[in-house]
Amino acid sequence: MMTSGFHFMAISLAGILARASRCRRQNPVSSKPWRSTGAVIASASSLAIVFISLLGVPLSRAADAESTQPGFAVLVFSKTTGFRHDSIPQGVAAIKALGAEHGFAVDSTEDAARFTDVGLAPYRVVVFLSTTGDILDDGQKAAFERYIRAGGGFAGIHSASDTEYQWAWYGRLVGAYFASHPEVQQGSIQIEDRAHPSMSDLPAVWQRTDEWYNFRSNPRSTVHVLATLDERSYSGGKMGADHPIAWCRAFDGGRSWYTAMGHTPESYAEPLFRLHLLGGIESAASVAGGCVR
Ligand SMILES: [Zn+2]
Repeated sequence: MMTSGFHFMAISLAGILARASRCRRQNPVSSKPWRSTGAVIASASSLAIVFISLLGVPLSRAADAESTQPGFAVLVFSKTTGFRHDSIPQGVAAIKALGAEHGFAVDSTEDAARFTDVGLAPYRVVVFLSTTGDILDDGQKAAFERYIRAGGGFAGIHSASDTEYQWAWYGRLVGAYFASHPEVQQGSIQIEDRAHPSMSDLPAVWQRTDEWYNFRSNPRSTVHVLATLDERSYSGGKMGADHPIAWCRAFDGGRSWYTAMGHTPESYAEPLFRLHLLGGIESAASVAGGCVR
């Protein structure tokens, strides 16, 4: 049972947040947008749901600027010619849900024939979602290079770094190539740049379960590292004391963001991981804060 005092506190908090911001982002644990809050407050039971949901959101979120524009379009590309992650459907669904909640359109494809000047032109960001192997032919690669040079955005997720090892330009775009991984286990991530949109919602030390990649090289000299793995927190790390796990960079006229996380289907249901993806996509689209490098 809710007390009347609890009612008042909930109403006040909802009112403060509603006045403070027409927040573009929404509660990651609820599909209801902030602006529907007033309509939702129709009964004590629904009010309780709203209040509990609000408690889970950092108040700093209320300071975010509003964007009423549908904004931009994203192409999610998940073609594989090597290992096939069974988390791809969940990844596609999560990005489509983020787009619906946050005002950008999302198309998904595994058809490399979409990689032409005309085919890529509608998109502000192309997401490589757990791609593997060699997935584009020479003409498609050239079209994607022109897309980035014209100011396009790239967001690579997980095995995007296990893709196109012989395409040197792509290697520089993504930042590093996958080398190996231990079994899926919990590990601790240290956030290095809390100002970046893909990091701003995360705790300073973020503990979660994933398949933790080792890379063929440390990308730090060419990218802006956003987060590192603490190899003391799990077994099988081979990068040493400096183990970048997410990063960004300006590259060849466009923008690149990469996270090595996202192996498991469960990842894409994690509210914090979804906010991590959202910030990465929005920064690659240059609608959120960009990369400092
Ligand atoms: Zn994996």
